[in-house]
Amino acid sequence: MPLKRGIGVSSGVVIGDALVLETEETRVPRRSVPNDQIKHELELLNRTFDSARVEVGQERERFASRAGADLADIFGFHERWLGDPKPLQEIASLIESNHYSAAYAISIFMRRYRRRFQEMGSPFLQERAKDVLDIERRLLHHVGAETRHELESLEQPVIIVAHDLTPSQLIMLERTKRLLGFATDAGGTTSHTAIIAAGLGIPAVVGLEDIASHVSSGDTLVIDGLHGVVVINPDSSQRENYAAEAEHLQEVRATLEELRDLKAETKDGTVIELLGNIEFPLEIKDCMEKGATGIGLFRTEFLFLESQHQPTEEEQFRAYRDALETIGDRPLVIRTMDLGGDKCHPSGNWEPEKNPFLGLRSIRYSLQNLTMFRAQLRAIVRASAYGDVRVMFPLISRIMELRQAKFVMSLVMEDLEQDGYEFKSDIPVGVMIETPAAAICARELARETDFMSIGTNDLIQYTLAVDRTNERVAQLYTPADPSILRLLRGVMRDGRRYGTSVSLCGEMAGDPLFTILLTGMGLRTFSMSAGNIPRVKKIIRSITVADAEKVMRRVISFETEREVLNYLRDETRKVWGDL
Ligand code: PEP
Ligand code: MG
Repeated sequence: MPLKRGIGVSSGVVIGDALVLETEETRVPRRSVPNDQIKHELELLNRTFDSARVEVGQERERFASRAGADLADIFGFHERWLGDPKPLQEIASLIESNHYSAAYAISIFMRRYRRRFQEMGSPFLQERAKDVLDIERRLLHHVGAETRHELESLEQPVIIVAHDLTPSQLIMLERTKRLLGFATDAGGTTSHTAIIAAGLGIPAVVGLEDIASHVSSGDTLVIDGLHGVVVINPDSSQRENYAAEAEHLQEVRATLEELRDLKAETKDGTVIELLGNIEFPLEIKDCMEKGATGIGLFRTEFLFLESQHQPTEEEQFRAYRDALETIGDRPLVIRTMDLGGDKCHPSGNWEPEKNPFLGLRSIRYSLQNLTMFRAQLRAIVRASAYGDVRVMFPLISRIMELRQAKFVMSLVMEDLEQDGYEFKSDIPVGVMIETPAAAICARELARETDFMSIGTNDLIQYTLAVDRTNERVAQLYTPADPSILRLLRGVMRDGRRYGTSVSLCGEMAGDPLFTILLTGMGLRTFSMSAGNIPRVKKIIRSITVADAEKVMRRVISFETEREVLNYLRDETRKVWGDL
């Protein structure tokens, strides 16, 4: 059965029915109709084509009056296609022979048709696939296919297949409690959708390039998030094998759970702190259950992304206070909002940017939207009365940004004092090191902060100039590049030299392949998605710092990513069998 390979982002295996998000905003469930409704569906199909043709004609006229008849000819393909009797006949015969609804027949036919164009070598014909997609959207709109917001009311457990999913869409789907897993054409290991999936333990494979055009709603899928494989309509032996694999993963998980209450301590007695990364306060419990000793990264922008409106100071305060109540006396590192890049609220007033990751993102956005920033800082500072809160500023790339952010925080504290609020006046303040500029100037940042946390997800993308969300360059995105390793080592050294603690909260921290190396570099605080904590702890408990340092020295001498990975794989296998 067809098997597609992509990037596994969440290590579970799941088998279930697919629901293809046909376009960004439309879904078409598999639907058959009784005999006596076929005539109705055929009439609906004819009306759909008629309406789409009329609409294209009107658009051509409107466009021609503004841009001239030549340019308006881009609608010519649409008009000719919609006027050709053949597609209409073929869709009608799908309705007649399979008893499909008109919407489902259109979606099946159009996907196959689009695939033919996509598979042709010529760039011109591949471009045509976009026109076909456009026609498909138009037809689905006129046939009355359900629209995106109806995803909120999924009735059956499904595996979502889509070209791409935004973090907000994933959150919405997750809330339905019907999401078994997902597979997307786009995305990379550290795109935020992938990170959330890992955090929530949702099996997923991304970067599949064309999965959405190979799967139809109602197909059975296997999602193997560990190996990055999707099987379409598995045969019975594949089903059995994957069910056994799912069971095996469950057993490994159960064995690792036994480590929960043990320290992450090396064999020679060095204790390493393992913290959790969260997007929502409700994940704290999961982190604690997996053995986290605190939260090293609370991505607060998700409070903004999941809400229909901008959360008020009061709403944020309650979220932070509730988080502190769950966490007890353990530390909670609250990162101020990292909006922008791939995290824009659909209802927000975002100007389109050519390079959103290099644009108005994160601390830059906060410093240009001071009302929002101040409201968030007020909420965090007020929450400090309820527990061990620490504030972290993201995407700092120059010292002035840190100074400005700290200045805003000091003003907020003055105001709160005047307003009579209780809070801690010595809240630890830290920065994320996630740009090469910050890594190179870590010593200056270290002098003015209480802690630094390395965000490798962004540090890798900015250092190697590889978009973390782009599947076409995903093979170039790696933490094992010597340039990254040198930067990490330098930041850790600067932290030690200036007495500032250093943690690492990118996905690299939760990848067991890098545990020995990072320990050898001197990292003593790792922060990761809950699901990764047990594996990393297992490795830490199986090594000595002296051995880890030896491994680090060897790794640092390599010139290529491949040598680094091969060597780390061997060393990791030595301590924990075949991962
Ligand atoms: C990072 O960049 O490594 C990080 C932890 O931040 P985010 O993934 O939220 O950008
Ligand atoms: Mg980041």
